[in-house]
Amino acid sequence: MIEVRNVTKRFGTTVALDRVSFRLERGGILGFLGPNGAGKSTAMKIITTFLAPDDGSVEVDGVDVLADPLAVRSRIGYLPENNPLYLDFVGRARGIDGARLRDRLAWVVEACGLREVYKQAINELSKGYRQRTGLAQALIHDPDVLILDEPTSGLDPLQIIGIRELLQSLAHEKTIIFSTHILQEVRPVTDRVVIINDGCVVADGLISDLEQQAMGTNRIFAGFAGGDGHAEAIGGL
Ligand code: ADP
Repeated sequence: MIEVRNVTKRFGTTVALDRVSFRLERGGILGFLGPNGAGKSTAMKIITTFLAPDDGSVEVDGVDVLADPLAVRSRIGYLPENNPLYLDFVGRARGIDGARLRDRLAWVVEACGLREVYKQAINELSKGYRQRTGLAQALIHDPDVLILDEPTSGLDPLQIIGIRELLQSLAHEKTIIFSTHILQEVRPVTDRVVIINDGCVVADGLISDLEQQAMGTNRIFAGFAGGDGHAEAIGGL
């Protein structure tokens, strides 16, 4: 479970997050949607304990991010904007070694489609493979919670489908938040979305419900020229 309560974060005079609140139950998957500069990365850095909030609180599985950041980090796999690419190193830093590290490496390399480039030098990897390596390092310690900052950024359409399928399969057992600035990226993965703009949550719910609400506010004004009876005819529809 992830609970974000009234979180505010300022950088100088910029209010990156303004009393942001939302909640995600264990085992859920949440699309965190908003334009560039909306505050998505800042919120993710606070959930993953890389930044402290100025106000408000965040709990991951009941653990407060300020009270016990190491316990929170051990539960979380994090794909940051600029991801680290040393899989083996990240695995060891997470306290995994020996046969377990070999098993986990084999699993993430397969799950993230890295087999053909695994032995390649990192500086030769394309953006898509770098992104998938970042996802692999977020998964290496088999965390319960995944926080993924723009996981499909820079990927081609086939790679995007691969990542979507992976997220859907992981969602059975993990709690996942992924950010994107593209609505179409959310829909195939989950119906649950939090929309953030200018540091504020502007919508929170199921895409299908939000669409219904938006449609309820639409009005069509039509004018008719000549003849009587049009209004009655339309009123009877
Ligand atoms: P998003 O991830 O939605 O693109 P960010 O969380 O990166 O948005 O940024 C939110 C706002 O906070 C932006 O106005 C950005 O310029 C500002 N910001 C983010 N990080 C910093 C920082 N380290 N220093 C100053 N301003 C920052």
